[in-house]
Amino acid sequence: MKKKYSLRLQLILYMVLFIVAVLGVIYLFQTNFLDTFYKKNKISTLMNVGRNVASYVGQDDIDDILDQVGMSNEVCVRVVSNNDSLSYTGACTLRNLDNYTINMIAAETIENGDEKMFDDFHYQRPFDSRPEDIYIFAKMLKYADQDVMVMVSSAITPLNVTISTLKSQYFIIALIVIIMSVILALLLSRFLLKPIFQINTESQNLSKGRYDGGRIRTGSKEYDELNHTLIQANEDILKADKARKELLGNVSHDLRTPLTMIVGYGEMMKDIPEEKNDANIDIIIAEAKRLSALVDDLIDISKIEDDNVELNKQEISLNDLLTSVYHQYQKYCETQGISFELQLSDDIRVELDEKRIRQVLYNFINNALNYNDKDDQKMILGTEKLEDAYRVYVYDNGCGIAEEDLENIWDRYYKVDKEHKRHLIGSGIGLSLSRELLEAHGLNYGVESQENEYSRFYFDVKAAEADI
Ligand code: ADP
Repeated sequence: MKKKYSLRLQLILYMVLFIVAVLGVIYLFQTNFLDTFYKKNKISTLMNVGRNVASYVGQDDIDDILDQVGMSNEVCVRVVSNNDSLSYTGACTLRNLDNYTINMIAAETIENGDEKMFDDFHYQRPFDSRPEDIYIFAKMLKYADQDVMVMVSSAITPLNVTISTLKSQYFIIALIVIIMSVILALLLSRFLLKPIFQINTESQNLSKGRYDGGRIRTGSKEYDELNHTLIQANEDILKADKARKELLGNVSHDLRTPLTMIVGYGEMMKDIPEEKNDANIDIIIAEAKRLSALVDDLIDISKIEDDNVELNKQEISLNDLLTSVYHQYQKYCETQGISFELQLSDDIRVELDEKRIRQVLYNFINNALNYNDKDDQKMILGTEKLEDAYRVYVYDNGCGIAEEDLENIWDRYYKVDKEHKRHLIGSGIGLSLSRELLEAHGLNYGVESQENEYSRFYFDVKAAEADI
């Protein structure tokens, strides 16, 4: 596996790399290109000043202008013409040029198209043995029938000394900047990465449901979101854990009761010969069935948790299916004095996994029976035509569901009635199983309810292609 480095180390490394790159570029420019830039800059200043001065030729205050321009740009300006009235020389190098040199410069400038840059001019200063290298920009123009030449010059300062000074300074600067960048990276990591280190440490407790994000000072939007997500995940883990424990309690309770009944009735029949009758055997069978249904539910839910629901869809008549389900409960309801009606709309052919949809309907009907202790207990199994589908519903006038519970009842292990009543058999997984099965079919489903008034659980089916 590739070696992973800590965020802090990475931050320092990237920072140093960045600084080294920046320093490298600066070094290159300061040493190798400094001379070139300096000369380019000088040349462009000279040309700009020369052209500028050319536009002032003939003005009365040209002397002042030339002085100003010369001083502010650190250049020497000279204007010469056939007629001396137009000539002017500032107090600088160009003043000492003799006529011969001026004529030569003029001739070469005219030859070059009225503008020329002399960048290797050796100027011999009087009383000095070494010639000085200077740049001269010359521009020819005509003014009042006279030939006028504007010259602008500047000395070329050798940069070797400057560059070697810069070089020696450069290494000290580089060292200081790198040290500063490491300190900056450490500070940044302290302030920016601190929350992530804390979140990281805390999240190790997440699996135990002990993530304490409340005391982490996140300081930024992204960390806040991450922390919030983990707090939420922690709550979900706690909720699931609690529900799982509750389920285990409920399931063991629900398993134990029929088992006690079966053992009790069995022993009674063994000990007392008169008790060996059909009624008692029926009780044993009913309790065994109850056990088996509970075990089925548990197996189903574990299959769904493993994503193993395979649908075996077939085209069937909706009304046939509902009628058959209805008949299974009708007898029982009659004996219990419960009013159970079947209210069907048009018959359509639907493509469903009959066994799975029956499971959903049984769950809805069992709940309708269980969560109703009114004297005039009513239930309806029916269909209703919607715009482009048929709604299959199970109605009951039972205890209804409080608004705050409506969202949760489809969650696994959720039971509104935390008091475990024997006649309310339920593991809290029926509706979550129904939800998974309906979603596997891609059907719209839901519940309408008013507390103490009614509940109406439904799902919507569409006619199979061939039927339309
Ligand atoms: P259970 O096995 O507990 O019935 P379900 O998943 O089937 O589990 O239902 C979840 C919860 O929804 C029930 O515990 C009950 O509180 C509520 N519930 C379901 N159906 C009805 C209904 N018809 N009337 C009132 N409450 C209902």
